[in-house]
Amino acid sequence: MSYHFDTLAIHAGQPNERLTGAATIPIFQTSTFAQDEPGGQPDFCYTRTGNPTRAALEANLAALEGARYGLAFSSGMAAINNVLNLLKSGDHVITCRDLYGGAYRIFTKLYHNFGVEFSFVDTTDPANVARAVQGNTQLVWLESPSNPLLQVTDIAACAEIARAAGAWTVVDNTFATPCLQRPLELSADIVVHSTTKYINGHADVLGGAVITSRDDLYERLKFFQNAVGAVPAPQDCFLVLRGIKTLSLRVERQCANARRVAEFLSGHPRVRQVYYPGLPGHPNHAVAARQMSDFGGIVSFELDDDIDAVRRFVRALRLWTLAESLGGVKSLLCHPPTMTHASVEPNVRRERGIRDGLVRLSVGIEHAVDLIADLDDALRESSLEACCGDRTHEVIAA
Ligand SMILES: *Cc1c(COP(=O)(O)O)cnc(C)c1O
Repeated sequence: MSYHFDTLAIHAGQPNERLTGAATIPIFQTSTFAQDEPGGQPDFCYTRTGNPTRAALEANLAALEGARYGLAFSSGMAAINNVLNLLKSGDHVITCRDLYGGAYRIFTKLYHNFGVEFSFVDTTDPANVARAVQGNTQLVWLESPSNPLLQVTDIAACAEIARAAGAWTVVDNTFATPCLQRPLELSADIVVHSTTKYINGHADVLGGAVITSRDDLYERLKFFQNAVGAVPAPQDCFLVLRGIKTLSLRVERQCANARRVAEFLSGHPRVRQVYYPGLPGHPNHAVAARQMSDFGGIVSFELDDDIDAVRRFVRALRLWTLAESLGGVKSLLCHPPTMTHASVEPNVRRERGIRDGLVRLSVGIEHAVDLIADLDDALRESSLEACCGDRTHEVIAA
């Protein structure tokens, strides 16, 4: 019997506990496990290698992506690193031009030093991926929707090109979540998540995941997980599992709120451009509508190309919090050029369309009317330079 996503989120990997009947998977806060005899084959022997709370999370994550195997990590970057461990000196990776800043950093500042070559192409046109293929291409690394410009890549088309080239396709599915997009069903080989974001969803834990259905890749990735040791603590696994129970409810509200925010911003005279794949005018709207069941909770937009305009706007907000990260219940905004993408060189940033006036919103689950009213007020007040000072110190009642 195959269950629907919402049912799997609650049940997959989470039977009632055998010993006590605990209806919620307990936190097995132990580093090691008693063994019956030397050379036995216990299910668990040492928490770096495996832990029951983590095993529950890993089984659950696999089910959400419709996969056979899941591996949990201490952060999204640890998950990304786990996949990059598949590479060796002399290998070539094709990836997106619009990419999470931390992925760009580990590619260019670490793996590049180990002799791995990277091509950054506009993957929204799969022909660019085909053109970038070399004899040593080992991975096609995609992010869709991308961070921070919400570009959408045709995953199935790129995976086909990768397969023909003998390369694996990896998709960072952090922005979409498995509620909205399941890359393995689109022929990708590996899915990566920062579970810090939507999957946990409450901005209170760091985590990552690597998910695949391929035995050969799983064996290697599992070996690297234990060999490198960037595993999540049992308590963090428990928190992520708890977050997952409301994943589809949260994402449903976040998508609905984001659509309303995107529509509001599109009609605002101070907003130069809105990036949201759910808007019919978005250049990749058709691909997004085909491969995603909704368009996600992230909306980016551009104010005047001027960091001071952004500063005034941020100061005038009351509900929205300026912070790194995304995907939580509380609405956040960030300024990619100085925050998430500060590690991308300024000239590269500009060339990729990340201008100084860019703002990225992570729309939470508050009431859309309140979120929009706050943006509206802040846009109005920040356009009149003189009036901005005082609101900073106001405290929101309740
Ligand atoms: C945040 C993020 C990461 C990194 O995850 P951490 O949990 O912060 O290490 C990777 N990819 C994307 C798309 C992200 O947003």
